[in-house]
Amino acid sequence: MLQLERVHKSYRQGSERIDALKGVDLRVDAPSFCGVMGPSGSGKTTLLHLVAGLDQPDDGRVVVDETDLAALSESRLSAFRRHSVGMIFQQYNLISTLSGRQNIGLPGVLDRRSRQWIERRVDELIEQLGIGDRGSHRPDALSGGEQQRIAIARALLLRPSILLADEPTGALDSASSAALWQLLADLAQQQQMTVLMVTHEASAAIHCHRVIVLADGLIRGQFEVDPNDASKLATRYQQLVG
Ligand code: ADP
Ligand code: MG
Repeated sequence: MLQLERVHKSYRQGSERIDALKGVDLRVDAPSFCGVMGPSGSGKTTLLHLVAGLDQPDDGRVVVDETDLAALSESRLSAFRRHSVGMIFQQYNLISTLSGRQNIGLPGVLDRRSRQWIERRVDELIEQLGIGDRGSHRPDALSGGEQQRIAIARALLLRPSILLADEPTGALDSASSAALWQLLADLAQQQQMTVLMVTHEASAAIHCHRVIVLADGLIRGQFEVDPNDASKLATRYQQLVG
């Protein structure tokens, strides 16, 4: 379960203060696949960073599975970031000198898991995500869709309860994107995870259970998705951003 209570976050840019989040209240129960939509600059990435524990709110609380992130010591917080949340981005951020398998296993190495544990878990994910023998190649020999699957597998290695995705299909063609959205929806269901996916596209959000709409640092509303009606989704989104 994920909860934000009256969350404020501002950035300083020279003498100017930018209020990125202006009192966000949100509750998401697992399993859930939520789309986060909103115009550029509305605070979507800031929201994901706070949930990931990469940054702290100026005011308000971020609570994940009963734990207030602000109450964690530095070492507990870094354990939280490693184990409880996985993140994927538009840029896959894979290490170019490592094979797909080695990229997937990397969080296990950093977490000092045994070689045997890592090999077994990597095999499991390669099977589950349909990566197959593409995993033996380095990233530059793989398509964008394949690289993003590797990045998802890496994010899932230590079994996080939350997967955060910031425009994960922004660099992919439409067929690879559609396959990835389906994969994320299946993962949320099978692993009982909360997936928050930032997206601009109604064609992506249609795979989500629910859409949360941000505008100008505030949640303007949210709605359940009717998977058979993309135009209704687009209309509701437009109504909410106004
Ligand atoms: P989105 O992901 O919806 O495009 P962001 O969360 O990235 O929005 O940004 C929200 C607002 O905060 C924007 O006005 C952006 O310019 C500003 N912002 C984000 N990160 C920083 C930062 N590190 N320093 C200064 N301003 C920032
Ligand atoms: Mg962003």
